[in-house]
Amino acid sequence: MALLEVDNISVHYGRIQAIHDMSLTVEEGEVVSLIGANGAGKTTTMRTLAGLLNLSAGKITFDGEDISRTKGHIRVVKGISLTPEGRGIFPAMTVMENLDMGAYALKDKSQMAADFDRVFDLFPRMKERRKQLGGTLSGGEQQMLAIGRALMAHPKVLLLDEPSMGLAPQFIRQIFSIIRQVNEQGTTVLLVEQNANQALATAHRAYVLETGRITHSGTGKELLANPAIKEAYLGAA
Ligand code: ATP
Repeated sequence: MALLEVDNISVHYGRIQAIHDMSLTVEEGEVVSLIGANGAGKTTTMRTLAGLLNLSAGKITFDGEDISRTKGHIRVVKGISLTPEGRGIFPAMTVMENLDMGAYALKDKSQMAADFDRVFDLFPRMKERRKQLGGTLSGGEQQMLAIGRALMAHPKVLLLDEPSMGLAPQFIRQIFSIIRQVNEQGTTVLLVEQNANQALATAHRAYVLETGRITHSGTGKELLANPAIKEAYLGAA
């Protein structure tokens, strides 16, 4: 049984259908990437999985339970954390306070010191800047803070919406290396990206989304080698 199972879902904004009969699975322990161009429906998919948008058809199963109608804050408690596009950190709060907010849904707070340590091990720069206001961090640092905040909730699956967006190349490499580390430490990851090269290289499996429909799927390696994907997404014929 997959950890996350998306079964023929459709999502509408009013009369506009943004997602058409989408099905995908994420197995425990995997990094799965969803790649697609601007407007393909990547953010809509992530917001739907996080419980911020309603399904108009289909079913989402998480950890064996139908969560299709479960509210977003309950999904966090069940183990689904979203790092939204544009990061969504709290600019007027310090790094520590931002991380603290990530743990709001945890019932057992006794481990919080260890959780801070884990985040600071992954992101030493966050430790140096722990008293700095979130809004004064660089874009790459804000992305690290957003991932750190999501990890504070002990997710079973981490949903990352375009973590590399707007970042300089050295930060992009760093973010993908951190995604691999987080996964190796036991967190399942579903990642949406326009940066198809890195997203496919990092993923065990991946899906391609075009105008709200899944058009290809396979291992990261298979999709990297697929001529149609190369031409459309990897900047090489
Ligand atoms: P990007 O990388 O540009 O964010 P995306 O793949 O994340 O693109 P979405 O933001 O999910 O794409 O948008 C999918 C489709 O849904 C687009 O056609 C978009 O115009 C439409 N859409 C998104 N948000 C809304 C909204 N609030 N109201 C109406 N249509 C919307």
